[in-house]
This record gives sequence, structure tokens and C-alpha cells, in this order.
Amino acid sequence: MKTQVKALVVGGGAVGTSIAYHLAKAGWEDVMLLERDELTSGSTWHAAGLLPLFNMSFATTHIHKYSVDFYKSLEAETGLNAGFAVVGNLRMAQTDARMDEYMLYASTAETCEVPYQWLTPDEIKQRWPLINTEDLKGALYHHTDGYINPADVTQAMAKGARQRGVAIERKWQADAFHWTGEAWEVTCTKMVEKGGNLVPSDEQIVITAEQVVTASGNHAQSTARKLGIKIPAIPVEHQFIVMDKDPALVEYRQQGGKEHPVIRDADAQSYVREERGGWILGVYEKNAPAVFEHGVPDSFRADLFPLDLERIEEQYMAMIHRIPSCEESGLKDDFNGPICYTPDGNPLVGPAPGMRNMWLAEGFSFGITAAGGTGYYLAQMMVDGEAEIDMASLDPKRYSQSWMTTEFAARKNEECYDHDYILHHPDEERPACRPLRTAPAYDRQKARGAQFGFVNGWERPNYYGPLDAPETFDHDARSFRRGDWWQYAVEEAKAIREGVGLIDATAFTKHVVKGPGATRFLDWFTCNKLPKVGRINLTYALTAHGTTRTEYTIVRNGEDSYYLVSAGAWTEYDADFLRKAAADKMGEFGYIEIQDVTTQWGVFAIAGPKSRDVLREVVKDADPDTVLSNKRFPWLSARKIELGMCPVNAIRVAYTGELGWELHHPIEMQNYLFDLLETAGAKHGMKLVGARAQNWLRQEKSYRAFGNELGRDATPLEADLPRFVDMDKDYHGKQAMLDTGVRAKCVTLLIDGPEDADPWGREALYDGDTKVGRLTSGGYSVAFGKSIGMGYVRPDLAVPGTRLKVKMFDRLWEAEIAQDSPYDPTNAAIRKDG
Ligand SMILES: Cc1cc2nc3c(=O)[nH]c(=O)nc-3n(C[C@H](O)[C@H](O)[C@H](O)COP(=O)(O)OP(=O)(O)OC[C@H]3O[C@@H](n4cnc5c(N)ncnc54)[C@H](O)[C@@H]3O)c2cc1C
Repeated sequence: MKTQVKALVVGGGAVGTSIAYHLAKAGWEDVMLLERDELTSGSTWHAAGLLPLFNMSFATTHIHKYSVDFYKSLEAETGLNAGFAVVGNLRMAQTDARMDEYMLYASTAETCEVPYQWLTPDEIKQRWPLINTEDLKGALYHHTDGYINPADVTQAMAKGARQRGVAIERKWQADAFHWTGEAWEVTCTKMVEKGGNLVPSDEQIVITAEQVVTASGNHAQSTARKLGIKIPAIPVEHQFIVMDKDPALVEYRQQGGKEHPVIRDADAQSYVREERGGWILGVYEKNAPAVFEHGVPDSFRADLFPLDLERIEEQYMAMIHRIPSCEESGLKDDFNGPICYTPDGNPLVGPAPGMRNMWLAEGFSFGITAAGGTGYYLAQMMVDGEAEIDMASLDPKRYSQSWMTTEFAARKNEECYDHDYILHHPDEERPACRPLRTAPAYDRQKARGAQFGFVNGWERPNYYGPLDAPETFDHDARSFRRGDWWQYAVEEAKAIREGVGLIDATAFTKHVVKGPGATRFLDWFTCNKLPKVGRINLTYALTAHGTTRTEYTIVRNGEDSYYLVSAGAWTEYDADFLRKAAADKMGEFGYIEIQDVTTQWGVFAIAGPKSRDVLREVVKDADPDTVLSNKRFPWLSARKIELGMCPVNAIRVAYTGELGWELHHPIEMQNYLFDLLETAGAKHGMKLVGARAQNWLRQEKSYRAFGNELGRDATPLEADLPRFVDMDKDYHGKQAMLDTGVRAKCVTLLIDGPEDADPWGREALYDGDTKVGRLTSGGYSVAFGKSIGMGYVRPDLAVPGTRLKVKMFDRLWEAEIAQDSPYDPTNAAIRKDG
């Protein structure tokens, strides 16, 4: 057995096997796959094997699409047939809201080149007469996916991997990981059988690996402990039952009837597929418990839990309603196995927090579907430095180590499981484990009607609803169209355009970067000129491929002292990259100190033509009339001011595009400041404003948002932000950015959409009948009285005045590319003096 490898992949389920295969395919020699038991002995062996292509996420849809195409090619490569039954996938809708949801799924599918069809209940009945369609509105049908044999596809990938030189070692468990500074020394223990259990023997070896990937499935908690980090991947029980032959189905097939597609009855929380003349029923039921919160016992190997029929009774009855002929079929077999979840249902794929050359591929709840694509894109990240799609939404660091716990992960994962088939509104907010991270003003905001969103654990007001709103108000207000919350956001947006509003931006990520090496480091790390002392700049840290890794507002507090503000959802994602880059460059640039001060500073953003008037009421200065004037406090500058008794680091910038300031204040003084501003603001009609209105307003100014327009799949030049890109200096990712050119360009569109809906930022853009791009943001513009969106189009079309179409609710709607910053293009409102 080798003890020196380029890459060690830990875990021989579908995911780890695919990663090993794709690392070898990408050109790495010396890849080893280590499995503590037998290949597929984790969750992989008992999966139902469904390969659903549809997904609401752009990245995940790409991953699934790759898998489906790749699995179809495996037999030719390896000679092994993985039993891919391309029967299609039928998502049935019982309500209009479900049809709306599918139309949004279809939008994402369209932007990823995934084909689909709409079927009416009659068309379903004609094709598959055993299905009861009487209560259906319609269905979304996808004919290129289906189901596969999970063990066979894993074995086929393993054979392909071996053919490409991968060493596969079974019955070895990775037990300890030690980073030497250049490589990982992984202590591995030979596993042996003892009384039916798999237990460690005394035999150990140390494998030295330049790179390590963990794909340990249900053992993620044990992996986390060995690595000394937290991984929010904890399994939940998941059941499916196999039924005896259904005589009507047997007859239908004997008479030449085509195999049924995988039938998804989301409104009945279940899926059904054929299995040897009978049916398999899989369910996403309520109250399925999380398991193995503190590790998998030695006694649990390729095992299952006892079936809990009572828990799935409702779904079972619903199946009899949907396929009445199955009523007499008995139960042939049952599977209740651990299925790994994460709090948001997306797997955790990417660099491990705080470590070098350590990659996680954990928490897969649809790991058979995702294995192929995960292997492909993760191998790109490891071998080439970046994947061709932005993998940020899967990055393990989206849950910060500082606040995430096992209890949080377990309860959130249970919720995620039982929410699998609920209506997934794009503005969905889930209640479990909340409130958890609250800024001091939370109670005050709640008392004023705030309906909160969940951002990296923080509670952040989305909008302010009615004061006497019941607990369920926000849930009831949701829609795929304009929900009942919409009018509240409209009033908030208007308040900022016409008067003044106060937004809580405490969740922002904040870092202090200082020390003798700080200036040279940041100059190399970011693509814009560094600001002068007392000034601020918007800038971007790039990936090695020249795309956007992070957007920063940089405040320069001193020659070598900086305060960096970035998106609230990405604290650890940003911190990890910043710290690693600084550590790499310290030898060259000198000592650099980095502090994450996110939880020390609260932030209120006050904005609107009357914002100066409100602040003037409370600012303490020898000359309060001029302290906020353009002369003493120009746009894009930072000043230390005092508001009443609260010391505030004020930054003159507003993400809404109005006159405004961000008020960074000591978090323990937040309630004092809130009360002070609220009282002063009352005289000027100040309104509390949430994140939804802010998101609309920033689109009127063409301000790109991180995670939407800005990410690792586009350079700042493609985001059309040349004014923030310094062509004269040298910095990380510059040459790659220039070499990439402009493949697509970011634009803002004003849209004549449906009366009752706005785009969500996932819709396809058309020029005539030709698809030419996609939206990455969407919403409503109070300034223009119509829908607005931002997105990427073919560069030749990125010209103001170009007329395009947006696909919403299965129709094409007129849209026009607006000039950049369609609202107040000269920034007169922001620069207003007073
Ligand atoms: C009832 C049921 C039905 C399902 N149906 C579907 C479906 O239809 N479609 C779908 O896409 N998904 C389905 N799933 C989910 C799917 O099974 C999982 O997402 C998938 O198998 C995860 O693969 P994996 O490789 O991540 O994990 P696993 O298959 O669990 O593999 C992890 C491997 O790592 C090994 N390991 C762990 N720690 C170590 C260590 N320290 N050293 C060495 N080896 C180690 C384990 O022994 C194990 O073999 C289903 C799950 C269940 C429970």
C-alpha cells in the first residue's frame, strides 16, 4: 500500500468515488481512495437511485446535469452497466401555487440548458392511465433523467478510477490528520470484523498526502472531530417502501405500456417509481429524527433502522389516491436509512475552514444525483484553482465556526428534511432554531413589526409588516408572485427615495486589517486603488482566475490601518480567504494583523433626502450645521462623529443610492442609538426599512450584489465595473482577468412584466427566440413603477436601449436594457449638499 500520494480521498461512497475518478481524469496521478468498510457501504447502497435534474439553484442544477450526462457515458468507458433507466421525471402540481413554483424551476432549468415539457392532466392520463389525475393542475415533465442503481454506478466510477490509476484501499479508516506545513500526514487504521462489528485493529500506517478530501457521509461528525472543526452535516432517517406486484401495472406493461417516469407528488410529500411490476414509495414525512449527532456507532454498518409505518401513513394513503391500482399490493421490502442533511439542504463542498489543502465534500442528501457533478467541479477547484461555475453556495464556510453548533445543525437538518416538498418560495424563511443571533435592537424592531430574514444565523429585518401581525404573517404573505409583503416593501422603498429610512445592516462582515504589511498586502489583494486616509473605496478581491472572490468597502483609518466591510452572509468565507492570503504574503510585505470585528460593531444605514436633517438633530459638534456638509463630510469619506452619547464611525455611502450614511457603532450601544435616531427621525417621518426594499433600490442604481451579480463565475470587467478596476497597478488575479476577456456582461433591465409579479433573478433572457443570458437579481422599481432586474447577456447586446424579453411564468415579457444606474445616473442625490 502506498504511503505517499498526491491526493487522498476519504470515503468510498458515490461522492468520494466520483471525486477520486475526476481527480485522475483531470490529470492527477497518485490519487488514493480510502474506505473504512466496503465501497458503497454508507448511505449509497440503500439509496433509491433517483436522479432529479430540477433544482432551484443554478450551481446545483449544473452539478446534477453533469451527473446525468456523465452516468450515461460510463458504460462505454468501463463496460459496466449502472442500470440507468431514463424514464423521466414527472413533477405533478395539485395547486396553482405549485404550478407557479414549477415555472420558477423551469426558469432555472432553462438557464442551465436542461430540457423540460409541460403536461396537462389529460396528457398525463393519456400517457400513464394508472395515474389518477382528477385533482391535478398539471405537471412539469423532464424526460432525460430517471433512476440508476447507486451501487452499480459507484462501482462503475471505481472501475473508471482504477483504469486511470487510482488506488482504492478498503478496510482502512482515516483516523488522525496532521498538517506538516507542506502536506497532510494521515494516520490510518486497519479495520477488522469483530462479532459483526467493524472495529479498529492495532495496525496503523501514516499516509502522506499533498491534498486530502473527506467524503465521509454519515461519519461527518467524526471527521469534524478529527479535523478539529465543525461540519453541520448530520443524517436524518429517510424511508422508502417497496410494494408487491400491482396486477394492473403488470398488465399495462405486458400490453406495451412505457415504464412510468419517477412520479413526484410534492403536495403529498412523496415520490413513486416502478420496481419489477410493483412500486417504490419514498416519502419526506414530518418528524423524521436526526441520527448520529455524535457519531456512528461501530455496530452500525450497512444497516437500516426499523420501518416506522405510522410516520408515513398519510403519504401512503396519498399514494393509493394517486395510483388506486396499488391498493391491494402488499409490502415487499422497506428501507429506513440515514440520509445526510445540512441546514439548507445543499452539500458542503470546498476548502475546509482554516486549513490548507483540506477539502470537504460532506452532507449530501441527494448524493447519487450530485456525485458525478461534485467530482467534476471539485476536481476543477483542486487541480485548476477554480471551477467553471461559482461554487460559493455550496462552500462549507457558509456556516461560521464561531456560532454553529451540533444542536443547531441537527434541528435545522430535521426541518430541512420535512421541508423538502413544501412550496419553496424564493423568499422562503424557515422557523427552526430562531431567533439565534440577534443584535440588541432585535426586540425593538420586532415590536415595530419587523419580519426577519435569516442571514448567517443573524436575524435581519426583511420588511416591517403590520404591528398586530400574527406569528404566521410572513409565512402567509409569501407567494411566487407579489406576496402580501410586497406593499410594505414598496412603502419602505418610497420612504427612502422621498424622505428618510433606517436600515439595520449589523450583519455586515467587518474586518480590521492593519500593521506594517497591511497597505502593500491590500494593494496586491484588491483591484481598485486604495483610498487615502479618511476615505473609502469599493473594491474587489479576485480569485486566481480573475473572477470576483469578495466585494469590499474599504475604509482607510490610518496609513496602515483599514476597516473592510463585506456581505453579511459570507463572514467566514471572506475571513478564511483573507487570512490565508495574508499569511502567504506576510514574508514579502511585512506583518499583517487581521481581526474579525463583525460582532463588535452594529450598523444602521440611514438614507434618503432627509437623512442629514435627522442626523443633524443628534450630532454633537462645535458646528453641527456643517459637520455633515459636503465640505466637512464629503461623499465616500469616513469620519468619527458623536450622535448623542454614542461614538460612531460614520461612512458616507448608501447602498440605496440616496444621500446617506452607514453608522458603525459599538454594538452594546445599539439600543441607545436606535432610540435616539427613532425619536429624532419621527419629526422627519423616518421609516424603518428592511432588506427587501433595499434590494430593489440598489438595482435602480445598478449596484451589483455579491452572490448575485458578483461571484466566482464573472470578472469585475464582466460585471461591467471598470471604474473600480485599476489597470495601472499589479494585483492578484489581474492577468487572468484580462486573459478571460468579457464572455458576458452585466446589465440592468426595466421590465414590463405581469401585473402581479416581479422576477426573482433566475429567469432566462431572450433576444427574439434566442436565449442570450439570464437574470441574477429581480424586483420592483418604485422609481419607474415597473419590474426591474439585473443579469448577464451576450456582450454585443449589452447596450442601453436594446430590447430583450424575460421568461416569466412560461411567457416572454418585454424588457429594455437601461443605462447603468437608471435612477439618478449622475449621483446628484447622493452628493446633495446641506
Ligand atoms: C432511503 C434513502 C433513499 C435515498 N434515495 C436517494 C435517491 O433516490 N437519489 C439520491 O441522489 N440520493 C438518495 N439518497 C441519498 C444518498 O444515499 C446519499 O446522498 C449518498 O449515498 C451520499 O453518498 P456519500 O458518498 O456522500 O456518502 P456514503 O455513501 O455514506 O459514503 C461515505 C463513505 O465514507 C466512509 N468513511 C467514513 N469515514 C471514513 C473514514 N474516516 N475513513 C475511511 N472511510 C470512511 C464510509 O464507510 C462510507 O462508505 C437516499 C438516502 C436514503 C437513506
